[in-house]
Amino acid sequence: MILVLNPATGSDSAEYKQLMAHLANLPGISTRIHTEVGSEQTLTEVYLIGNTKALPIEDMQSLPCVEHVVRISEEYRVLGRHKNDHRPTHFDYNGVRFGQDTLNVFAGLCAVDTLEHVELMMQALRDNGQVCTRMGAYKPRTSPYSFQGHGKACLPYVFELAGKYGIKVIAMEITHESHVEEICEALYRTGNSTGVMLQIGTRNTQNFELLKIVGRQQDFPVLLKRGFGITLDESLNAAEYLASEGNRKVVFGLRGMKTNMADPHRNFVDFAHVPVVKRLTRMPVCIDPSHSVGMRAASPEGILDIVNATAQGVIAGANMILVDFHPVPGKALVDGPQALLIRELPLFLEDVRIARESYEQRVALAGRYQETIA
Ligand code: PEP
Ligand code: MN
Repeated sequence: MILVLNPATGSDSAEYKQLMAHLANLPGISTRIHTEVGSEQTLTEVYLIGNTKALPIEDMQSLPCVEHVVRISEEYRVLGRHKNDHRPTHFDYNGVRFGQDTLNVFAGLCAVDTLEHVELMMQALRDNGQVCTRMGAYKPRTSPYSFQGHGKACLPYVFELAGKYGIKVIAMEITHESHVEEICEALYRTGNSTGVMLQIGTRNTQNFELLKIVGRQQDFPVLLKRGFGITLDESLNAAEYLASEGNRKVVFGLRGMKTNMADPHRNFVDFAHVPVVKRLTRMPVCIDPSHSVGMRAASPEGILDIVNATAQGVIAGANMILVDFHPVPGKALVDGPQALLIRELPLFLEDVRIARESYEQRVALAGRYQETIA
């Protein structure tokens, strides 16, 4: 059970102390406090652990400081969407809002290769009104002989250029806890000119020790990619690892499932799960059409499969798009064949806008449908 306290509650107030004294006297119940510092208000939640079945909701509701009470189900305790759960489905990071009702595009390089390419990408993003990007510095590769990413060596120029072009959030995969320290250090040295969303890749979805470490820090939000060969439930539990350690700023990323049934695509596009994840949890949902489709083939009408897949995710309510671009895909050191060209960026964004508008119209229509059957 969670007691969500009134936003104005201070931990030194008499009422709060009265509440905590009451809870301490409940037999077989222990408490855990979570405070979420938001841009507008600080939210305090008291988790009651133990046999809470016997506690009547109405009694708990009438305790001092309590705004509302959520009886949680066993699954996805922190990130789950429980009955009568009015807790927010968004968080803010470095001036950008991530929620189940927002949409952010993270177009960028799969892997940082040269400073020139990073600059061309960021300039194009700025020129097209974008404030987020993806930039891979630490690349988990199938072969040990493939390019592994420039690692910490590229961070200073990536962060400086981000500052120069007004990029506020960079999605960047990490594969080891030392990478978090390297990112922190480089950000500090560049005067915190930008922000980073730590990405846990599909190969690390169930690297529980890494999840716990990343969950314990609250400096950076996390994009957790779905595991390519495990169930949705297993991947959602992986997200819960992050939250149970304290970091709730988690975006859940769909990136396709590995099976040769997906041929000729790289992975089987799973964006029909966008509304499922939104229904089961309060996480914003990201789609990665590049790693799902993995190729630049187009339909007879001339729409790239990557762009079609993007539209499918957006029209179903996706909240974030992670997509590979490159100024010269032929020279990319990783995943060149699936990169969109920088000159395609405005068209891609226009396609996203059309799909998002359709989604909004469909939401309005769904409201009318509800009224009809009420
Ligand atoms: C990536 O986004 O660069 C990546 C490697 O993705 P995934 O972990 O989904 O394969
Ligand atoms: Mn890639």
